[in-house]
Amino acid sequence: MDLLAKLTQTPSVPGREDRIRETIQRHIQDLNLFDEIHVDPMGSLIALRKARPANGARSEKPLKVMLAAHMDQIGFLVRHIDDNGFVRINPVGGFDTRNLFARTVRVCTSTGDLRGVMNPGGRPIHIATDDEKKKVPLIGDFFIDLGMDAEAVRSQVKVGDMVVLDGPFSEVGDFVVSQCLDNRVGCWAQIVAIENLKHHNCDIYAAWTVQEEVGLRGAMPAAFGIDPDIGVACDTTLCCKTPGVPDEDRVSVSGDGVALHVMDSSMISDIGLIEDMEAIAAEHSIRCQRAILPRGGQDGAVIQRSRSGVRTVSLACPVKYIHTVTEMSHKADLESYPALLTAWLESL
Ligand SMILES: [Zn+2]
Repeated sequence: MDLLAKLTQTPSVPGREDRIRETIQRHIQDLNLFDEIHVDPMGSLIALRKARPANGARSEKPLKVMLAAHMDQIGFLVRHIDDNGFVRINPVGGFDTRNLFARTVRVCTSTGDLRGVMNPGGRPIHIATDDEKKKVPLIGDFFIDLGMDAEAVRSQVKVGDMVVLDGPFSEVGDFVVSQCLDNRVGCWAQIVAIENLKHHNCDIYAAWTVQEEVGLRGAMPAAFGIDPDIGVACDTTLCCKTPGVPDEDRVSVSGDGVALHVMDSSMISDIGLIEDMEAIAAEHSIRCQRAILPRGGQDGAVIQRSRSGVRTVSLACPVKYIHTVTEMSHKADLESYPALLTAWLESL
């Protein structure tokens, strides 16, 4: 859990993934899990672990498997500083503005991080009109108060600086709670799965990709460069088994194991790979579940359509309250996720 906690508390929004990439790179280098590591021009981290067959006899042309976990989180970039020192923002990724009231934030500048408070413009509830109370603000209505005058703000903050919400990591009952479990869980699962590998006949390319939250932008060139035989997107999915959502819309169930994404609106997983993973899960008594997400996409979509096409499956951890700073994942699902990946990679 220490590694997952650290990954969730390392801010990195689309196009600003330097910090999380350095954290992951340092960790995998310390563990000596890979034979080659490089960063591609867009910023994705790509690490190759060559086949380690049980009998030591490496085949001429081992199967190439690409694992991909996006390492960006939804957040904001500074758009404008007004004459009173208030900071306006542009979203990078999809927050629901109803979840953005009265938030403490971190503005990450080249000279250090600044604390701030984010709210939409308008009157407090005591003096708001009935119409104002009903209005859901647009993202452009929000501003950040850094508690400093315009001159002090402008001397430190630049247009394009990254802004993230505060959302600490904690354990609540059988769950972990944090911001950006989407997708630090996938980043973490790839590391843990490879750490637990003994022997495998395939070459494994683990990619931690950039800019997924703004339209699957980093995985496309990463897949082109790797040219894999099989792709596995490691991400999270909705779990809406909560009040106010009909059961048929729950997508996945917390505690029932890692989800095999049969389809979402960006791709249809290779059904053969899903069946193979289910068989491996049954053999090793690892819990997993099938899920369909009617709306939403992930990196698997662009891996699948890379070059002349790649057999691809999407793995996803169920997450309640996704795209808020109180995302929740069940510990049993966090256990089954890397366990299934390890067992499946060893079976190839
Ligand atoms: Zn995601």
